[in-house]
Amino acid sequence: MNEITHSTAVKFEQDAEGIVLLTLDMPGRSMNVLNDELTRPLAEAIARIEADTGVKGVILTSGKKQFLAGADIEKIFAMTDPRLAYELAQTYKGFLRRLELCGKPVVAALNGTALGGGLELALACHYRIAINDPKAKFGLPEVKLGLLPGGGGTQRLPRLIGIQACLPLMLEGKELRPEQAKQQGIIHELTKDREEMMARARAWIAANPKPVQPWDDKKFKWPGGDSRSPANAQLWAVAPSMADAKSQGNYPALTNIMSCVFEGGIVDFDTGCRLESRYFANLVVSQVSKNMIGTLWFQLNAINKGKSRPEGFEKAAVKKLGILGAGMMGAGIAYVSAKAGMEVVLLDSTVEAAEKGKAYSAGLLDKAIKKGRETPAGKGVFLDRIKATADYQHLEGCDLVIEAVFEDRAVKAEVTRKTEAVIPATATFASNTSTLPITGLAKASARPEQFIGLHFFSPVDKMPLVEIILGEKTSQATLAKGFDYVQQIGKTPIVVRDSRGFYTSRSFATYVMEGLALLQEGQHPRSIEAAGIQAGMPVGPLAVHDEVSMSLSLHVMEQTRKDFAAEGKTYVGHPGERAVVLMVKELDRPGKKAGKGFYEYPPVGQKFIWPELGKYFPVSKEQMSQQEMMDRLMFAQANEAARCYEEKVVMTVADTNIGSIFGWGFAPHQGGALQYINAYGVIEFVKRAEELAAKYGPRFKPAKILLEMSAVGKTFQ
Ligand code: NAD
Repeated sequence: MNEITHSTAVKFEQDAEGIVLLTLDMPGRSMNVLNDELTRPLAEAIARIEADTGVKGVILTSGKKQFLAGADIEKIFAMTDPRLAYELAQTYKGFLRRLELCGKPVVAALNGTALGGGLELALACHYRIAINDPKAKFGLPEVKLGLLPGGGGTQRLPRLIGIQACLPLMLEGKELRPEQAKQQGIIHELTKDREEMMARARAWIAANPKPVQPWDDKKFKWPGGDSRSPANAQLWAVAPSMADAKSQGNYPALTNIMSCVFEGGIVDFDTGCRLESRYFANLVVSQVSKNMIGTLWFQLNAINKGKSRPEGFEKAAVKKLGILGAGMMGAGIAYVSAKAGMEVVLLDSTVEAAEKGKAYSAGLLDKAIKKGRETPAGKGVFLDRIKATADYQHLEGCDLVIEAVFEDRAVKAEVTRKTEAVIPATATFASNTSTLPITGLAKASARPEQFIGLHFFSPVDKMPLVEIILGEKTSQATLAKGFDYVQQIGKTPIVVRDSRGFYTSRSFATYVMEGLALLQEGQHPRSIEAAGIQAGMPVGPLAVHDEVSMSLSLHVMEQTRKDFAAEGKTYVGHPGERAVVLMVKELDRPGKKAGKGFYEYPPVGQKFIWPELGKYFPVSKEQMSQQEMMDRLMFAQANEAARCYEEKVVMTVADTNIGSIFGWGFAPHQGGALQYINAYGVIEFVKRAEELAAKYGPRFKPAKILLEMSAVGKTFQ
């Protein structure tokens, strides 16, 4: 190298043969991000490459572990002026355009992950070589934050791999491993290490002194045809309506991405790029992207960084985990824990029952083998980590034991005592109860300060959340350990105080119950289900009630009634409860598991609403508007979440929002239950809640905290 300059974030090194090595390496950061600090020196470097006739080729790489993980989200989040967003996208695209038109070969040497703007930078290079590191990811995931690739991604990718192939990548925000990216034609070559990558890059430059991007080639033909080709015209006839049917029009990014690709497919490249900037600007200033970025980026990152984890405790890792009860939940917990590399002891009343729980892991591994994600040898190693047993002695040496036996205080107390007789005095004991207060369960423990609730969701291997519940005596050290375990298995922890229904079950119940109340009032069941889905919930309230089983909610209702009586309080039931009693007790239709609930579940074919439902819940002539029903379903949940926050059942806005999306599927485009109120406007929410309360009952009265906030103009932060 005969010349080295380190202009802040971009290192420019030119060797004797005129090959420039451009290294993205932002000082003081562990990762490169796309912001002015990076783009300014990048633009300078590009200008130099253009001007210097001595430059024969360029290799663009990164000095960090990853190549470039994307744009500066903070800056985009703060933008409220669409013109500025348009300019931002145009400026970045301008650099990229100059890079690919500089007349010299430019190779992206991808030493690690390239996502979003990072991949768009690579797409503007003439050739892409990546190290075959199974951890590296490539993709355009902007849609997950309600945005679209604004750096030319929606124009280069379809021209590179075709319209049909590029759509799922951008509409689902799929992240590809190196092999997959090569298969899709996004990356040209894979190498085993950096040295080989650099050698290949030099060789390519030597062999291709005057490369032209496919879309700048006069003879360019769209792979698979442009938007007017018969196959694509057919796709465009159905794809938008299919996407809308799925998303209910709640995600404008989907429409905008398709518009970029469709319109880009009938105009020239530069016009397509300008169109993309306009659609990008439209999304940047949209409420949906603000909701999604605020919650699914900033708040989720804060949780992952340990915002709710008490400070001052060293990070703990569970090496040996005990699980009591190998039923549906215990089996799932065993799988996710063994997957994270822990030694697992799975205990049930009999070895056969425990083995059955272990077989659940074997089943999941077999599926993974079929999909090529696991090998038979890997399955063997995985299963060797799980010991199925009925013998408590095997729990010796466990750092953590999670109880998932029947939901019965006496059974839980007995297994707690038996376990504590064996496990180390320092071990943590956790219960996965869904309804029983942790403080009460901890009474069976000789070490209540080491007793905690870890509330998993079903199916455990798919659901991303764990609700950590603090008993009265649970120590901060125990909370820290519980938090670390949840992160060890790759899930997101939220911290919740001990109270009836904890946070998620309590708030989720209001959705279901409101659906049942609507049914009782004579609203058409199909309109109710549609209202839930239109509002952004994954499943309608009647179908979801069938899934969680009505006999369970009847049991919870009866227990709550008893508990209230024992505490000398009056229990005011939800109007929806009558529907549960009728369905379970009188009509014997407890839900999906029994094959009959609000729906019929034929052995083959799709479920359908029980044809006789109208006999018991006659449809009234007065049908409400869909919007009225949507408001009732959403206000019920958001208001309850606000009450939980007010009562400090859940303590941070981040935990409340993320818990609502990850725990019970609260509309992600709204950014979670509290962000729904922010976006609606706290003052307007209070007004509308009072209206609903006057019409439908006091359950809609706005939470006290909302009245206080609206009086001083505050929002949830
Ligand atoms: P399940 O009935 O599928 O499994 C319970 C298991 O515990 C059975 O295999 C049973 O043999 C075993 N068991 C019972 N008594 C035992 C004893 N004395 N010693 C050892 N093993 C014993 O139940 P599940 O759905 O897995 O639920 C387990 C716990 O998790 C319950 O407390 C439940 O409330 C809670 N939970 C369930 C869900 C859910 O969606 N199913 C969600 C969150 C929490």
